[in-house]
Amino acid sequence: MSIKAILFDFDDTLGDRETYTHRTYCGKIDEILPDAEPWYREAVIQQCLIYDQHGDVPKGYIRDMILEKFGIDFGTDFPSYWRIHQPMNVVLYEDAIDTILELKKRGYKVGILTNGESDSQRTKVVSTGLIDLIDALTVSGDTNTRKPEPEIFRLTAEKLGLKPEECAFVGDMFRNDVYGAHRAGMLPIWIWPHSERRYADVDVIRIQHKAQLQDLFR
Ligand SMILES: [Mg+2]
Repeated sequence: MSIKAILFDFDDTLGDRETYTHRTYCGKIDEILPDAEPWYREAVIQQCLIYDQHGDVPKGYIRDMILEKFGIDFGTDFPSYWRIHQPMNVVLYEDAIDTILELKKRGYKVGILTNGESDSQRTKVVSTGLIDLIDALTVSGDTNTRKPEPEIFRLTAEKLGLKPEECAFVGDMFRNDVYGAHRAGMLPIWIWPHSERRYADVDVIRIQHKAQLQDLFR
């Protein structure tokens, strides 16, 4: 069956999460330690980014680890700080809009399927202008399912009037995005935008930049 839609994950796929996550941790450190020595400040922030694991852990875990490692207390409201401030810092990868426009020009429908809180994820899609370019948006917080459950992939295909087999899904997290799309019957494409290398033993289509999608979907 031919592919009629390209669906995207948001964070680390369309959104340059490395950048807006760094900015958000900076904001928290500067609030708590406004006079921190710059190299110490950066050491704390870089450790936050390691504990953050590309967003796959609860923010309470990061708060606990930073308290243990540095004796710095982000406070019990850190998860809500994150929900408000991370979307305020959002920025897209340079190739996000051009790629979507080009795919649309070629006749593909485009959608976004993202895990997370409704308010913060929707704010990111709206403030970056992506909401005006896409044909469907699904945020797990608005549903009773989340990636990697196949239901949420099927739900997004339905919004486009398509079968899962007619959709490709582009995402960075293997379990949530690639494995989830595979189980739902979509064509998974694993994008790994980070500089560190990752290995995989399954025969999955892999890209590092979204511009490469223009070679896959002509
Ligand atoms: Mg992601």
